[in-house]
Amino acid sequence: MADIVIAIDGFSGTGKSSTAKKVASALGYKYIDSGAMYRCVALYFINHQIDFEEGKEVAEALDEILISFQFNNLLNTSEILLNNQIMDYQIRLPEVDEIVSQIAAQPLIRRAMVDRQQKLGLKKKMVMDGRDIGTVVFPDAALKIFMTADLQVRSKRRQKELEEQGIQVNIEEIKKNLAKRDDLDANRLDSPLIKAKDAITLDSSYLTLGDQVKKIVDIANKIIHEG
Ligand code: C5P
Repeated sequence: MADIVIAIDGFSGTGKSSTAKKVASALGYKYIDSGAMYRCVALYFINHQIDFEEGKEVAEALDEILISFQFNNLLNTSEILLNNQIMDYQIRLPEVDEIVSQIAAQPLIRRAMVDRQQKLGLKKKMVMDGRDIGTVVFPDAALKIFMTADLQVRSKRRQKELEEQGIQVNIEEIKKNLAKRDDLDANRLDSPLIKAKDAITLDSSYLTLGDQVKKIVDIANKIIHEG
């Protein structure tokens, strides 16, 4: 039996996080949401009015940003903490959506986050989702999944998620934001969003969450038990 790292990358709103969380839970693995780390940085920058293009300011801010994860047994989920405060809806607000991809495109910020992500994965038995997990963070991951889905389907899902948190946003606004983030992520110079050569593509447009999870867990179990 082998302990592995599972990298799940893909476009915004394809259901990576919900899928990764459930895959981790099914395998008894840890789950790390790397996008939430960039969202924490974005929220800190908004709250402290940091100019993400000012290298010195960014470096000083990064020294002040402590990001940690803890497992909530009651909710059976992993929680992210920014400077010891649990972050939930705060990092999913439209104002964070608006700026996070520009922040994540800054090489200084990427280097700091990738370094932290690699340390978190040292013991393996981990599922991490993001944009560059299979290409940059864990290029040797034993299982890499690349998720895609139709933009309209993704926008509807995102709208429903926001509505569940009491936030009403027009679907066209959501579509614009997802398309903009896809474009920024895929075309940035540093670690652009691309499918790793050895990744398996999973189109989630017409799959239920349960189907997606099962597909990945089945492949993972094969690798874990058969190598
Ligand atoms: O996954 P999520 O949509 O929450 O990520 C927020 C943003 O963080 C993405 O739009 C992307 O710009 C950035 N990101 C990244 N690399 C990762 C994870 C997220 O650039 N590994």
